[in-house]
Amino acid sequence: MRPMAAILRAVRADITTLAVDAIVNAANTTLLGGGGVDGAIHRAAGPGLLAECRALGGCRTGDAKLTSGHRLRARYVIHTVGPVWHGGRLREPALLASCYRRSIEVAGAAGVRTLAFPSIATGVYGYPVEQAARVALATVREALAAHPSIEEVVFCCFSASDLAVYEGLLA
Ligand code: ADP
Repeated sequence: MRPMAAILRAVRADITTLAVDAIVNAANTTLLGGGGVDGAIHRAAGPGLLAECRALGGCRTGDAKLTSGHRLRARYVIHTVGPVWHGGRLREPALLASCYRRSIEVAGAAGVRTLAFPSIATGVYGYPVEQAARVALATVREALAAHPSIEEVVFCCFSASDLAVYEGLLA
C-alpha cells in the first residue's frame, strides 16, 4: 500500500508554543544560543538545553543536530545552521536546502512524526523570504519521500507577511 502523503501547512505562531514532536531551531555554528528564534527557544527550553548544546561541539552551516526539548512541549529540538545571505552566489540556496534535508533526516532517525520549521536564515541572516520559502517547500517535499514516517510538517511563520508568502506557495 502506498503511504499517505505528509501534510504540509503554514501557521503564524511562536514556534516555542507548538505541540509537535520536534521543532527546528535556526541556530548559529556555536550552538550556544543567539537572538531571534534561537534566543526564544533557549529561553523557553531552560538552561538544560544550553548545557546539552555545549556537549555537541557546534554545527556546520547546512548540517543539523538533535537535542531534547527540555521544558518545551516538543520532545526534541533539531538545531540547524542556515547560510548568511551574501546575494545568492556563495551556495546559499544549496546550503539552505541542506538545512531542511538534514533536519528531515535527523527527525526521521529520531522517530519524529510531527515537525515544525521556522523560516531559517530569513531573519538576521538576511535570506529573502520568498526565495527561502521556495527552497524550503521543494526540499521538504523531496526529503519526505525518503522518510514516510513523518506525517506532518508545519512551517511556523512569525509575521503575517511571511505567512502570506508560505500560504501562496502552498496553495
Ligand atoms: P537567522 O539567523 O537564521 O536568520 P532569525 O532567528 O534571525 O534566524 O530569524 C529566522 C526567522 O525566525 C525569522 O523569520 C524570524 O522572524 C523568526 N522568529 C523569531 N522568533 C521566532 C519565534 N519565537 N517563533 C518562530 N519564528 C521566530
